[in-house]
Amino acid sequence: MLKNKKILITFGLLLLSLSVYAQPISVNSLRYWTAPDHTRMVFDVTNTATHQISLLDKPARLVIDFHDAKLKSLLKQPPKDHPLFSRVRSAPRNTKDLRVVVDLKTAVNPKSFSLNPNKTYGHRLVVDLYDKTSKSNKYSARAVNSSKQVTKSVTSKVRDIVIAIDAGHGGEDPGARGPRGTQEKKVVFDISKRLAALINKKPGMKAVLVRKGDYYIKLIKRMEIARAAKADLFVSIHADAFKNPKVKGASVFTVSKRGASSKVARRLAQHENAADLVGGVKLSDKKYLTTILMDLVQPDTKRFSRNVAGKILQNFKNIGHLHSQNVQKAGFMVLKSPYIPSILVETAFISNPDEERKLRSAKHQQKMARAIFKGIVNHFEQYPPGNTYFALNNTNKHIISRGDTLSGIASQYGVSMRSIKTANALASNKIQIGQVLKIPRG
Ligand SMILES: [Zn+2]
Repeated sequence: MLKNKKILITFGLLLLSLSVYAQPISVNSLRYWTAPDHTRMVFDVTNTATHQISLLDKPARLVIDFHDAKLKSLLKQPPKDHPLFSRVRSAPRNTKDLRVVVDLKTAVNPKSFSLNPNKTYGHRLVVDLYDKTSKSNKYSARAVNSSKQVTKSVTSKVRDIVIAIDAGHGGEDPGARGPRGTQEKKVVFDISKRLAALINKKPGMKAVLVRKGDYYIKLIKRMEIARAAKADLFVSIHADAFKNPKVKGASVFTVSKRGASSKVARRLAQHENAADLVGGVKLSDKKYLTTILMDLVQPDTKRFSRNVAGKILQNFKNIGHLHSQNVQKAGFMVLKSPYIPSILVETAFISNPDEERKLRSAKHQQKMARAIFKGIVNHFEQYPPGNTYFALNNTNKHIISRGDTLSGIASQYGVSMRSIKTANALASNKIQIGQVLKIPRG
C-alpha cells in the first residue's frame, strides 16, 4: 500500500513536469539593433526557445521556426530603408509551431543563440544577420580610410593623432540605469559625440567613434576597430552606478595586469566586463589569455595611459566632484589593448539623482567632453608622437607635470640639460608642476 502510494506520487510529479515542459513558449516582441556590418534581431520569449534557422532563395528569405510556440502580438517591422531586410511575417505551422519569415534585400550569414534573463530583459532568442556582400572588415577598412583622407589634408607627410572614442555598452546592453530610468549607453554616446566634435576641430587631431549608433560591439572588437584606425589613444566612456544613491563623482582608470587597485575598481571591472555576457557574447578563454599576455609586454603603453589619465583627472577637478583623487587601476577587458595607450572614464554616478540630471544636461555633457578633451591635448603636447602636427609645433614648449625631472625632459627631447637651463634662465635643476619650459631644438 505504502509502496503503491509512492508510485502514484511519482507518477503525479512526472505528469506535472511533463505539462510544465509541454507549455508552449510565447514569442512576445522583436527588437532590431543595426550595426555597420550586421543587424541583431532580438525576440523576447517566455522560455529558452528551441528553434531552427534556414535560408531560402528566389526570393531571398530567412526562416526562423520556433518549436512549440505561439505569437503573442504582431512583430515590429524593420524601418523601410533597412539595408538587409524589407519585411517580417509570421504564421502558425504544424498546429503547434511558429514560423517567422524575414524577406531579405541582400545575402546574409545568420547566427543565432539564446540569452538568459538579466536585470533588463527576460529570456531572448538572438539572431545576428551579417551582411555577406560587405567584407568582414569593411568597418575597420572604412575607419582607416577616413583617417588617411584627413592626414592628406594637413600635409602629405604629417599624420593626425587619432583618438578612438569608445562609448560604452549599446544595443541590447543598456549599461547602468539611473533612478529616473536614464540609460548609461545613451548619455555616454552623447558625451562621446561631443568629445569627437572637439577633437575633429583641433588641427592635427582626428576622432574615430568606435560605436557609431545604438548597437552592441564585443569588447575584443572594440579594440580591433581602434587598432585598424591606427589610434594613438583609446578612451572608453562610461557612467558608474552604486546601490548607495549618495555616492558620486568622476574617476579615471588605466588597466592593471594584476587586476584592480581597490575593491571598488574590482567591482566596477566585473560590471563593465559583464557587458559582454549581457551583449550575448562569451569570450573564449584563448582570446582572454592572448590579450592579457600581450598586455604585459608594453611598459610604454602603460606609462602613457597613466599620464593621459592624470591629465584628464586634473581637468575634471576644475568642473566638479571627483570620486577618487588618483588614477585608478582595474582589470577592464576593454582596456587590455596591447599597443594603444588606453583609459576608461567613469564620467559620474548615474545612480545619484543629481548626477543623473547632470548627465542628461547638454551643458554638463559638453563640460565633461571638454575636460576629457583638454586632458588628451595636454598629454599629446607633452608627448607628441613623431610626424604629427603636435610634434612639429609643440616641441619648443613643455608643461611640467608630476614626476617630470629636468634630466628626463632633456633625454625625451634629445637635448642637453644645460641648453634647457640656458633657454629658460634656470639657476638650479628645480622645476614646478605647471611650469612651462622652452625646449631648444636639438
Ligand atoms: Zn559602463
